[in-house]
Amino acid sequence: MEDFYYGEGGLRCEDVALAEIAESVGTPTYIYSHAALERAYRELDEAFSGLDHMVCFAVKANSNLAVLRALASFGAGADIVSGGELYRAMKAGFDPKKVVFAGVGKTEDELVAGMGERILLFNVESASELEHLERCAARHGKTARVSLRVNPDVDPGTHAHISTGQGESKFGIPVDEALALAERVGEYRCVELIGVHQHIGSQITKLGPYAESVEKSAGLVEELKSRGLDIKYFNIGGGLGIRYRDEEAPTPKEFVDAVRPTLEAIGASGTKIICEMGRYIAGNAGALLTRVIYRKKSGAKSFLVADAGMNDLLRPSLYDAYHEVRSVNDGAGAALSDLVGPVCESGDYLARDRALPDAAEGDLLAVMSAGAYGFSMASNYNSRPRPAEVLVKGNRWSVVREREHLADLIKGEIVPAFL
Ligand SMILES: *Cc1c(COP(=O)(O)O)cnc(C)c1O
Repeated sequence: MEDFYYGEGGLRCEDVALAEIAESVGTPTYIYSHAALERAYRELDEAFSGLDHMVCFAVKANSNLAVLRALASFGAGADIVSGGELYRAMKAGFDPKKVVFAGVGKTEDELVAGMGERILLFNVESASELEHLERCAARHGKTARVSLRVNPDVDPGTHAHISTGQGESKFGIPVDEALALAERVGEYRCVELIGVHQHIGSQITKLGPYAESVEKSAGLVEELKSRGLDIKYFNIGGGLGIRYRDEEAPTPKEFVDAVRPTLEAIGASGTKIICEMGRYIAGNAGALLTRVIYRKKSGAKSFLVADAGMNDLLRPSLYDAYHEVRSVNDGAGAALSDLVGPVCESGDYLARDRALPDAAEGDLLAVMSAGAYGFSMASNYNSRPRPAEVLVKGNRWSVVREREHLADLIKGEIVPAFL
């Protein structure tokens, strides 16, 4: 988070004071650092040096067009999970040859759209999806390249809501079934099997389970190759954790080095390594800027009521996630309190029972590490327009998404004539 620091005018992002942005754009507003995005991407890219590889950005972590454009310009690929993300990725200028499409429930429209754009491959998550893809491809006179998403049945040791690689999960195909399925793909006319994919979860901070899963999936790659299949891609997924509080997350280099011999062995026979990171690239590149509206006491508890709530940043309510809260003017001491939003839910909080900046009404706060799964999970709940987004690059900054207007709230709604 070195791109957010205290200096002239209080808390700054690169060469711009956050207070200046708040003055001009209002709050709540997401602020992203271009330098932080670039640094995280390059760290990942360098961690794989010596291996034929591609770093994709998981678009669901932060789908803003300008953020995507920046990542595409660094050379990143895109990991998408819906037709909407395909649309965004194409608008942002990603090379379709660097786009991989995952997700357990791709519809015919989404499959056809992906084939239409000639994306690199689909990460297929079930036998039914594979059959469906074959039928769609045949019907539309297209062909599709696929990678099988295996479920290595490993517990990543992260939050249950963001674990995806255990036996009971809806994601992926068990390794033995994947073998049987791979045999069948040979009979399909329009679908070509070119890869193996895994993704065991998000905010991974322990290398053990992740390394175990890569070994297991790599075993499948070797087995398929030994059966004569040309496995061109091995996608090890994303999920590298970041430091929100005091987590000891591995560095990208540690993450790759933990499995490097395996990746090298696979790479030696011509297979390219793909990774698809969201949180690691965008998480610490963003902060949510909010203003304290009221201070309030209720019994023994103290509250700071801010103009940002769970509809703007859902992670604390959804995962009990911790986000550091900083005062923008750096003057405030600390006091035990909750930072809550205006939404009519008890679960609407950004920080709970914590030493928080002892901010006055009207003061600005920055909720840190909000660049991933922040705006992309925002909603209009309580009919709250979604926040503005700003991208900072050096001493320049630009609104990259306008704050929603009231008219946006009812866009597409129709009052029928029979009322
Ligand atoms: C969400 C997701 C990712 C990215 O996860 P992060 O924890 O943000 O790195 C990668 N691959 C797939 C298939 C995903 O669903």
